Parts: sequence; C-alpha cells; structure tokens
Amino acid sequence: MTKQDIIITYGSDAMKMTRALLDKIDIESLIPNKQASIALKPNLVVAVTADSGATTHPEIVIAIIEYLQAKGYRDISIVESAWVGDSTKEGFRVNGYNQISGRYKVPLVDVKDDSYTKKTVSGITMDVSDTILETDFLISLPVLKGHCQTAMTCALKNMKGCLSDRSKRLFHSLGLNRPIAALNAVRCADLVIVDSLNGDLDFEEGGNPVQTNRMFACMDSVLCDSYGASLMGFELEDLPYIQLAEDLGVGESDLTTANIIQLNEPSEEPVARPTGRANYLGRHTEPQSACSACYGNLVHALKRLDEVNRLKNVKQNICIGQGYKGVTDPSKVGVGICTRGLGKSLPGCPPKAIDMIKFIKELDK
Ligand code: SF4
Repeated sequence: MTKQDIIITYGSDAMKMTRALLDKIDIESLIPNKQASIALKPNLVVAVTADSGATTHPEIVIAIIEYLQAKGYRDISIVESAWVGDSTKEGFRVNGYNQISGRYKVPLVDVKDDSYTKKTVSGITMDVSDTILETDFLISLPVLKGHCQTAMTCALKNMKGCLSDRSKRLFHSLGLNRPIAALNAVRCADLVIVDSLNGDLDFEEGGNPVQTNRMFACMDSVLCDSYGASLMGFELEDLPYIQLAEDLGVGESDLTTANIIQLNEPSEEPVARPTGRANYLGRHTEPQSACSACYGNLVHALKRLDEVNRLKNVKQNICIGQGYKGVTDPSKVGVGICTRGLGKSLPGCPPKAIDMIKFIKELDK
C-alpha cells in the first residue's frame, strides 16, 4: 500500500470487510518488525454502541487483532479516551472491549489515566498521551460521521482522543480547526481504517445513523479526510482543519492524485431507512432496491442542500436503486448508473454525495 492509495470495500460483515482490507494493505510490508508496538485507536467518544452511528464497530477491532496475532505480532494495545465528562471505561464496557481484552490478551489503555508529554506546534501546546507517542505503529479506526462543530469527523479529528482532558478543553476554546491540524503534525496515524458502515448524519454523539455499508483504508490522514468529505458532500472549505493539516505537512488533500482501489461492488441490501432527523430527507427520494452506499450518499447530499436552504428547490423526487435498471422514463431523474435510462441521470456506482449535490442543483435551473 502507498500513501496515495484509498482502498474501499462494501458490505455489511465488518469482520470480513476488515480482513479483505488488511489482505490488500499487506500489513507485513508496513510493519516489518514483529516486535513492534501497535496501538489501535477506535472512536469511543461516548459510551454507546456502534449501531448509534457514533462509535467504531468492535468487530473491526477483533478482526485486526486476530489478523495481526496470526501474523506473529504480539505487542498490541487498544488506546482511547472519551470526550470530557464521559467515561472511557464505560465506553469500553458497553462495546465489549473488556471481553476482547481478556480473550486476546490485549491491554486497554484509557488515555485519561495515561502520562503525557507537552508538545507545541504552531504556538499550540498540548498534552499528548505517552502511549501514543511511544507506539511504533498507530492504527486509527475512526467513524466517518457528522460533527456539530467541525461538520465532519474522521481520521484527523479521531486523534483528539490521544490528549489529556485539559488539552481537549483548550482545543475547543481555540475552535478545533487549528489545534486538530497541530495535533496531527505531532503524531498522526500510520494507517487509518475507516468505519463508514453507518456513521451519524450530523452529530458525533450518534442517534441518526445513516447506513452506507462501506469501509476504507488510507495511510494519509489528510487524503482520508478529503475523501470522506467528498462522500458526505462537503467541500474542503467546509472543513478548514484538512487544509491546515496539509499546510503543516501531515498529508495531501488532492483527490485527483489518489489511487482508488475498489475491492468489490456495492450490493443491494435492505436499506435501513434513516430515522429521526435524517428521516425527513427521504421524502425527496424514490428508492427501488438501492444499495445502502448509494442511498446513504444521497441522504448526505440532501442534508447538505437542506443546510443551504436549497432542498425546497428539489421539485422532483430523486430515483435511486437497482430497481431502475432497464427502466426508460424521460420524465424521471435519478442518481447512479442504475438510473441511466431516466430523463436525467448522474453516472457512478455509487456516485459521491459531492457529485449528487452538483447534479441536483443543476436540476432546478
Ligand atoms: S448505482 Fe446502482 S448498483 Fe451502483 S451503488 Fe447505486 S444502486 Fe447500487
């Protein structure tokens, strides 16, 4: 795997998908020393289970531990810290990490109990976990989801769980963008495996999961977040910490240089219709056997349009799904290659939310 690669897989079996990613990554070429210390950093920002759209599916952690141990790696730990005011240990307990730790003999490190070293980048001084600083290879396991302050959270922001609570408070007082970039300049992940199975629509605490049934892997955290932004329908300007991290040399945001490796096709699976705040967006859609990756991207695209008050301009429902294969109807519009027989159709399988937004905006001209 190279820093330009983005490896993506679709499905609903997180363990199988993780193994497929690891096979393609060729982990032994990235970590040649079997004695290396390896830290897994999931997102357990709050003590809720992964079906909420807030936290990393523990099956991904299990699959990685089994894979690494089968290859002979022994020094593996799971490192995390919940947000200020929440208990990491409760997050570990709710998500079954105590059992994982016992079964695979992998220690759990609560960063809130760790020692820290002060690091300063761009005038921002922060307390960074010594476990994270001393680990040889850091595998970040973020959830791609919405965030109430930074709009989106993925690889770069997942590193915030490597700080003391005092530094987390400082980050919020500084508006998050500059500090997140600075933190990643101190230490960023060596490998990112993104849980994009059902990340939340707009809030890091979960509650409005949007099923997208995909995972992807990157070595470059900046490229990773740039790609995640396109999947959720954000422009880079919407997420200033990505450009700031690039300016500090953390990585490259230009997706035109990325090498996208798609391991399989999205498949038609029962789509869990969005609930709660996400549900009302569905009234603008006409799904027929849509793959969840496709439908989830459409939900995110409609959400972005709603945020700029453009949803009211969507006069026609957007067709989507494999049920439109072979259908010719000039009066309808749709997204995805399955709808190519309709009057207007956006190609792609699945199209990204950022492209869906442009397509839908064109419709009301
Ligand atoms: S274009 Fe069709 S096959 Fe491709 S992801 Fe969308 S619904 Fe699935």
